[in-house]
Amino acid sequence: MVSDVASFRRDFPILGRSVHGRPLTYLDNAATSQKPQAVIDAISHYYSFANANVHRGVHLLSEEATVAFEQAREVVARFLGLPESRGCVFVRGATEAINLVAESWGRAHLNSGDEILLTALEHHANIVPWQIIAEKKGAKIVVAPVTARGEVDLEAYQKLLSSKTRLVAFAHVSNALGTINPVVKMTQLAKAVGATVLIDGCQSAAHFAVDLPALGCDFYCFSGHKTFGPTGIGVLWGRPELLDQMPPYQSGGDMIRKVDFAGTTFREAPERFEAGTPDIAGVIGLAAALNYFQPRRELAHAHEQKLLQVATEKLKTIPGLRIIGEASQKVSVISFLIEGGHPHDIGTLLDADGIAIRTGHHCCMPLMKHLGISGTARASFAFYNTLEEVDRLAASLQRIQKMMV
Ligand code: PMP
Repeated sequence: MVSDVASFRRDFPILGRSVHGRPLTYLDNAATSQKPQAVIDAISHYYSFANANVHRGVHLLSEEATVAFEQAREVVARFLGLPESRGCVFVRGATEAINLVAESWGRAHLNSGDEILLTALEHHANIVPWQIIAEKKGAKIVVAPVTARGEVDLEAYQKLLSSKTRLVAFAHVSNALGTINPVVKMTQLAKAVGATVLIDGCQSAAHFAVDLPALGCDFYCFSGHKTFGPTGIGVLWGRPELLDQMPPYQSGGDMIRKVDFAGTTFREAPERFEAGTPDIAGVIGLAAALNYFQPRRELAHAHEQKLLQVATEKLKTIPGLRIIGEASQKVSVISFLIEGGHPHDIGTLLDADGIAIRTGHHCCMPLMKHLGISGTARASFAFYNTLEEVDRLAASLQRIQKMMV
């Protein structure tokens, strides 16, 4: 395992740099992951040798770019365990994916008095788009509470589901706490009342295998940049038959069948939701990232669970340190507070030691309010992190804790 990690690390050039004269210890992977050389090379190769617009040209470069673009859709489908790629729509990221569903599906399906069920641990990206469409349509947002351990209260969740529930949206994994939600169960319960289900997979895709058909949801999304790919690209998957019935989100070139001033008809999914020139290099980079990660996924998950276990044990021995979020199923994310210390100060002091973490509300203000805190310090590990880095974090925090008392 150790030699596997060492070889993973060699694939990520940035991990070799130093920060403030110390080796970089990058523990902010939940915000964005680092990129392997394979991704950097794929993007560079595309711009160096194959740059052309897709879907339109008859010349060779355009054909090559189109083939690479459409092959990337197949890579995404394989990554998500899907039998076909038609439901995979390229978007800017999870934020755009959820906005797309809220605006387009919501416009067509939500009515006054309908309910949208969310959970208290959602990222703002899975709250605000629903608030906006709910206001437009006279629908109501209902929120399932989270327990003190940071798990969705399933009993309360079930009680909030009713024939009024039109849509349920929840994170696969909490970005702030690392909680892995029981999404199959949550989906089954939502489906039992006839609701449509969206799973925000932003924090799951980079940690373990996601088999979408087994989840049973209607929509799933993730961001490329958290899955070792480039920023500005992500995926919305929707059941093709559902996508085909949804009105366009953005409109323009490439998404139309026929345009006439008397009226316009639209293509089916996925093109219906890909108006204009897409982020071709981003798509190619994303495919390189998924191709890189998929064969390493099982090993990565086992290693991350080890990092989580060891880091949790070590951090718990630090006086005054409290871990926020102790769900029974977690990915390698640890949120914590140190008595007498503001999370921002902890983050700044760790940075001086070359350790990058995130501090604040993690775009989860309602969750922080629910837990009665204003924010946390969060260390989030990827498969290229090492036990030595866990030691470095623990040693640095021990020193910082002494400064706080
Ligand atoms: N959902 C979750 C759970 C997230 O962690 C994030 C990013 N922090 C998002 C949605 C939004 O992702 P993006 O900013 O890449 O669109």
